[in-house]
Amino acid sequence: MLILHLSIFKVFIYARATIEVFRMPPEALTARICYNAPMNFFANFRRAFQHSPHTTEEQHSMIRLQLAQRGIHDNTVLQAMVAVPRHLFVPAPLRDRAYEDSALPIEEGQTISQPFIVAYMAQALMLTGTERVLDIGTGSGYAAAVMSLLAAEVYSVERSSELAETARTRLAQLGYRNVHVHVGDGTLGWPEQAPFDAISVAAASPWVPRPLRQQLALNGRMVIPVGSYDQQLLVRLINRDGKIQTEQLGNVRFVPLVGEHAWTN
Ligand code: SAH
Repeated sequence: MLILHLSIFKVFIYARATIEVFRMPPEALTARICYNAPMNFFANFRRAFQHSPHTTEEQHSMIRLQLAQRGIHDNTVLQAMVAVPRHLFVPAPLRDRAYEDSALPIEEGQTISQPFIVAYMAQALMLTGTERVLDIGTGSGYAAAVMSLLAAEVYSVERSSELAETARTRLAQLGYRNVHVHVGDGTLGWPEQAPFDAISVAAASPWVPRPLRQQLALNGRMVIPVGSYDQQLLVRLINRDGKIQTEQLGNVRFVPLVGEHAWTN
């Protein structure tokens, strides 16, 4: 009954996200978005039934205390955070800590980001359900799963083949069919799939890698932590008619982005 109720609610949310595309200011609408929106409505409708969300008291309190009360106001983002079972993305011994307000260690010495950061970055990308998203640093696959409920397709690049393989299997088993995982250096982006309407970088870089800037579509948004090894500023870049606007969103701390166009070791 609960699952049915949530599925109906998700259909409502997806329908709303799709309708919002029509409410966007005209300059934000590209011909491609106009064409895709009706098609996407049906895809989202189908997807809402494919995902049977595991919802627990812990997930709801995470939404309330860690997200809603701290400025995550986009309902579609909050719904995606409820729908994705974070406990299935952390190593088994840490499952009971999955809904804590912190990043947690995963395999290969990496981390799954704090829920607030995942929600904050997703909200900053202003996803409406139609986007092709590039996600750099698949890690556990958690952020990719969240964004897959908010966008049309997620192209996720991970440098560690072990992490990529684990995430790919997990995402497939959980039914996230619109996430595509690729092993490689994410500082190069994913040229074959570019351009992207949104780019999320989940590892810290000393600067914005040039290939990522080049793969941002018109009106595309990118969020990326930029700074030193220990401390970074989360910045949002928006490609407004070929001119990139940059905004500072706040201080963050991520693991390093290691690759040709970022840290080299
Ligand atoms: N989004 C992830 C957390 C990412 S942690 C989640 O939800 O679990 C950062 C990830 O970036 C790590 O897995 C690390 O291996 C990866 N990474 C670091 N440099 C990279 C690069 N150049 N290309 C792709 N992935 C990279």
